[in-house]
Amino acid sequence: MAEAMTQHAAPDAERVEALALERVRALKPYVPGLQPAPGEGWLKLNTNEWPYPPSPRVAEAIAAEVEQLPYYPQPTSLRLREAIAAAEGLQGPDWVLAGNGSDDCLNLLLRAFCDARAAAGSLEPTYGLYAVLAAIQGTPFHTVPLPESLELPVATLAALPCRLLFVPHPHAPLGRVWSLDALQSLAERFSGILVIDEAYIAFAGPDASARQLLERHPRLVITRTFSKSHGLAGLRVGFCLAHPALIGLLDRVRESYNLDRLAQAGARAALEDTAYYAPLTQRIVASRERFCQGLDALGWAYAPTGANFVFAEPPGASPERAKQLYEALAAERVLVRHFPRSALTSKGLRMSVGTEGAMEQLLDRLSTWTQTHA
Ligand SMILES: *Cc1c(COP(=O)(O)O)cnc(C)c1O
Repeated sequence: MAEAMTQHAAPDAERVEALALERVRALKPYVPGLQPAPGEGWLKLNTNEWPYPPSPRVAEAIAAEVEQLPYYPQPTSLRLREAIAAAEGLQGPDWVLAGNGSDDCLNLLLRAFCDARAAAGSLEPTYGLYAVLAAIQGTPFHTVPLPESLELPVATLAALPCRLLFVPHPHAPLGRVWSLDALQSLAERFSGILVIDEAYIAFAGPDASARQLLERHPRLVITRTFSKSHGLAGLRVGFCLAHPALIGLLDRVRESYNLDRLAQAGARAALEDTAYYAPLTQRIVASRERFCQGLDALGWAYAPTGANFVFAEPPGASPERAKQLYEALAAERVLVRHFPRSALTSKGLRMSVGTEGAMEQLLDRLSTWTQTHA
């Protein structure tokens, strides 16, 4: 019986493949950063996760929710959305959509606004998932190169023939914080939906967010996540903020139970515990500044960053040298990220800001490598 099944497996697999949509057969899926198993001794600085535990209130809230698991969750995540609206000083929950991670929000935006004739776009380089989500639904994806000056190319972005434009703020993977003037000018000039992806905004200082532009711009969407700033990447909670009419459109194409009970309860508890998160956020920012000073001392160059990561190049930078360094670090169980496909990123590494101890270890390794590979 088992043998008979294996004999049939190969031809059936081919037929299944042939039945798939052409764009699915051609799809290059998103490649997430490696996730080695805990306890294998890796210094993991490759996916910009929060390096501390989440607030202890998250565990309490999740434990208290367990007895409700026989029942479906609130389909609209209403209480979480009310808490987010209050925290953001918005009029009510109809300004907020909760997502299964902010990746879910990005997908819903494409689902609501884009198809084969309505394109999407972003900078180059940018967060790699945008193009993959566009390809999944056969949406053309256009990009504008980020100039070496790292100034936001407002006029060229605004002129892209796109229905939907994604701008990470701070920029991923370089960390640049855009001026609010530049973002506002883009919001005014671009005629489609402008998505400002604020996955890393918690580390950019108190006044950096495009939140203050929201009421005046009905075609502006801000996406956020609990993954990078609340230690909840594993819980999958993100959200977007926009005018109620736009939120209503996204709500139409949302899976009806996109956030489970544990996620809704855990995220709400995290949001309320600002006393826990604020000082740890400050610690991460302080570690980032110390790490940058360390890089200065080694003669490395780095992009100005308002995120919880640093993009940096060693002296004598080249794509080959960056690859060598990436591999040397990986051989010592230090995991960072190298993006070889874009000219602006091929010569350096993107390193997440971890705990104080992790950053000291990383600087030690970089120092040794820099001295032995002059
Ligand atoms: C990590 C990241 C996200 C995804 O966040 P999730 O909420 O974990 O899905 C979105 N945008 C950017 C730029 C990111 O770096």
